[in-house]
Amino acid sequence: MESLIQENVSLKPFNTFGIAVQAKQFVEITKREHLSQLFNEGLFKQDFLVLGGGSNILFTQDYTGLLIKINLKGIGYTIQQNHSFVTAQGGEVWNDLVWYCIDHQFPGLENMALIPGTVGASPVQNIGAYGTELMHVFYSCLAFDTTSGQFVTFYKDDCNFSYRESIFKSKYKNRYIIIEVTYKLDLSATINTSYGAIEKELSNRQIQHPTIKDIAEVVSYIRVEKLPDPSTVGNAGSFFKNPIVPKSTLQRLLIDFPEIVHYKIDEKSYKLAAGWLIEQCGWKGKKQGGAGVWHNQALVLINANQATGQEIFELSSTILNDVYSKFEIQLEREVNIF
Ligand code: FAD
Ligand code: NAP
Repeated sequence: MESLIQENVSLKPFNTFGIAVQAKQFVEITKREHLSQLFNEGLFKQDFLVLGGGSNILFTQDYTGLLIKINLKGIGYTIQQNHSFVTAQGGEVWNDLVWYCIDHQFPGLENMALIPGTVGASPVQNIGAYGTELMHVFYSCLAFDTTSGQFVTFYKDDCNFSYRESIFKSKYKNRYIIIEVTYKLDLSATINTSYGAIEKELSNRQIQHPTIKDIAEVVSYIRVEKLPDPSTVGNAGSFFKNPIVPKSTLQRLLIDFPEIVHYKIDEKSYKLAAGWLIEQCGWKGKKQGGAGVWHNQALVLINANQATGQEIFELSSTILNDVYSKFEIQLEREVNIF
C-alpha cells in the first residue's frame, strides 16, 4: 500500500476550479480493501481529505495531509415489486449513473442530469437540480468509518438530509468515506417539469409527452447554455446556497425590493434566489483579481484568469459583505473550502 501513496502531487487536474495547489500525500482508492490497509497503517490518525470529482471544493492553499481520491467503479440493479434498486460504487461519475438509469428505463434521476462529480459525493450535500433532490431517491449507502475501520450502512433516515445538507457535511464531516450508494427508483414515477426552464425548452422542441430521456436531454442542454464548462472556465457551480428565510424577512424585503425573486417553501418560509441578490449588487460578469462572477448566472464564481484559491475566496467574502449591506441577508457558502 505504501507504494501507492504518491508525494507532492499537483491537484490542478483534480479540482474543477483548476487551482494549482499540491497535496503532500495522495492515494487513489480502486479497491475497498485499500481503505482497510490505510486504517491498519494508522494513516487516518493524520489529516486526510476525501476527494471525488473535485467539483464542490475550493483549495486556498497546499494540502498538507493525505488526499484520498475515490475511484471505485461498478453499477448494478435489482427489481423488487415496483421499484428498481440501483447500486453504484462511489467513484462512478454521477452523470454516467443518470444515463445508465435512463438506458434501463428507470425514472427519478433525469432532472439531475449533468451535475458534475461522483456517486460517493452525491449524498454529502444532497445534490439537487430542477426540482429534484437526491434524498427523494436515496435508499442507503455503505461507508467506511475512519475511526473504527468498520464498514457501516446508512439508511435515508440516518442521513439528516435537508437543502444541500446531510449528516456527512455536518456531524460526520470527514469521518465516513462513502464507497457505495443504493438508489430506490419508483418505476411508476411521473415526470417533473415544474421548473419553468424545462417547460420552455420542451415547448421549443414541441415535445408534449416527454420521456425521461427527453427531460435529461433538455436539462443537459439548458445547463450547457447557462453554466460555464469547467474544462474551459474553472468553477464549482453555485458558490452560495439559496437562503431560506422566514415569511417576515420576505415581507420586509418586499417593501424595498418588490421584484425580489422568491419561492414558497411552506407557510412559514421562503427561498430567495441568491444569484438575483448578487446580481442586484452589481457583480454579474464582474472580476476581482483573477476571480470573477459568471456573466450568465451570478451564483457561479469562476477562475477568470489563473486565479489563486485565495483570490476566489476573497471575492466570495466581498460578495457576502455586499449582499449583507444591501439586503441584510447572510449568504452561506455551498462550496467546501480548504
Ligand atoms: P468533491 O468536490 O470531490 O467533494 C465534495 C465534498 O464531498 C468534499 O467535502 C469531500 O470531502 C466530500 N466527498 C467527496 N467524495 C466523498 C466520498 N466518497 N465519501 C465521503 N465524502 C466525500 N451541485 C448540485 O447539488 N446541483 C447542481 O445542479 C450542481 N451543478 C453544478 C454545476 C457545475 C458546473 C459544477 C462545477 C458543480 C455543480 N454542483 C452542483 C456541485 C457538485 O457537482 C456537487 O456538489 C457534486 O456532488 C460534487 O461531487 P464531487 O465528486 O466532485 O465532490
Ligand atoms: P434558475 O433557473 O435561474 O433559478 C434560480 C433559483 O431559483 C434556483 O437556484 C432555484 O432554486 C430557484 N427556482 C427556480 N425555479 C424554481 C421553482 N419552480 N421552484 C422552486 N425554486 C425555483 O437556476 P439555475 O442557476 O439555472 O439552476 C437551475 C437548477 O440547477 C437549480 O435547481 C439549481 O439548484 C441547479 N444548479 C445547482 C448548482 C450547484 O452547484 N448547486 C449549479 C447549477 C445549477 P434551487 O437551487 O433550490 O433549485
